[in-house]
Amino acid sequence: MIYDIDFETLPREALSAIQLRRLQNTLERVYATVPFYKEGFDKVGLKPGDIKTLEDLQRLPFTTKQDLRDNYPFGIFAVPMDNVVRIHASSGTTGQPTVVGYTNRDIDTWAELMARSLAAAGAWRGDIIHNAYGYGLFTGGLGVHYGSEKLGASVIPVSGGNTKRQILIMRDFGPTILTSTPSYALHLAEVAEDMGVSFNDLQFKAGVFGAEPWSESMRQELENKLHLTAVDIYGLSEVMGPGVAIECHEAKNGLHVFEDQFIPEVIDPESGEVLPYGEKGELVFTSLTKEAFPVIRYRTRDITVLNPEPCICGRTHVRMERVSGRTDDMLIIRGVNVFPSQIESVLMDMEEVEPHYQLIVDRKDNLDMMTVKVEVGEHVFSDEVKVLQDTQKKIAKNIKEYLGVSAEVQLVEPKTIARSEGKAVRVIDNRNI
Ligand SMILES: [Zn+2]
Repeated sequence: MIYDIDFETLPREALSAIQLRRLQNTLERVYATVPFYKEGFDKVGLKPGDIKTLEDLQRLPFTTKQDLRDNYPFGIFAVPMDNVVRIHASSGTTGQPTVVGYTNRDIDTWAELMARSLAAAGAWRGDIIHNAYGYGLFTGGLGVHYGSEKLGASVIPVSGGNTKRQILIMRDFGPTILTSTPSYALHLAEVAEDMGVSFNDLQFKAGVFGAEPWSESMRQELENKLHLTAVDIYGLSEVMGPGVAIECHEAKNGLHVFEDQFIPEVIDPESGEVLPYGEKGELVFTSLTKEAFPVIRYRTRDITVLNPEPCICGRTHVRMERVSGRTDDMLIIRGVNVFPSQIESVLMDMEEVEPHYQLIVDRKDNLDMMTVKVEVGEHVFSDEVKVLQDTQKKIAKNIKEYLGVSAEVQLVEPKTIARSEGKAVRVIDNRNI
């Protein structure tokens, strides 16, 4: 079902007209209220009134995560604090967290977009949503929560953690939609199995998985283990939170970006040049209606491709391919660009191993060494040493063939890699560069 049939199926021409009008309003507003944006526009000699077409957006400077940090905590807010009703912040694993704010109307828009997202995944009134995203400063939990209520579904605000209790709730409350990170969903499947609860007997029809990049092979894994349709959701707190883009369950082939609210661009991360549809590069967003925290050409560091082909679901909004990596997560191992998601794809295609892994990068004698630590299935681990050695060799060979880098493969017993209740820690980089 399409939640907002008018906006989600707008003919492209009408959509562009709305985008331009909203863009011009946003630019006027940030120029008048946010010194950071005024200085940026002045530096390139542009006034908001100079932006007369959507293409003119390309003349404006980018906004980066560093810019947000430099204006910590509230320097980029475009409204006085007495209009701000909510504050979220990113986890800030590297340096200062980034802080974002919302007005009442922003919260309402966000809830609306999350309602659209859940509907695109197959949810509707009458569904029960088991929301295992963390509640707190992180936008995942509250984003899904408000969207579920807006949709008119019943939300269980279970948040992350206390996994055994989650399984009992799933068994007893009969939720039909699961929302969580993909890695936590797999953890839920394992714990359920240990407790003798089969996902086959649960009521789930769809899972909405996001907050970390995941691969097509991971989708197979999730669908097989959890007996549901797995769809990818995209968002980031700087742009709004979850619900910036969502896969429709009909096509499960790229995520529709809610273009009446955001303008997506894909750029060459080196030159900053905008790339045509179909070319891979860094995703950049401009918000069109946000009041408290508008963003102009925000560089997400996420790598994707935009696809304008019409979709079978009827939505006209452009689709972004699932994020294949991040410009800042990209590991350079002996000169080769490696994304954790590529290793994941190799591992997921092998039935001998479980979908739990870690990449450890070290530098020895000025040489980068990558170790892939991966869990093997119970059936493999109980076998003889020869079988383990063969598995190890096969993984190393597949990684070499697919990625062009050598990796040391370390097989570990099932359930020995730490499980995460939020975003999984996939990469441990011990290099001091
Ligand atoms: Zn679609």
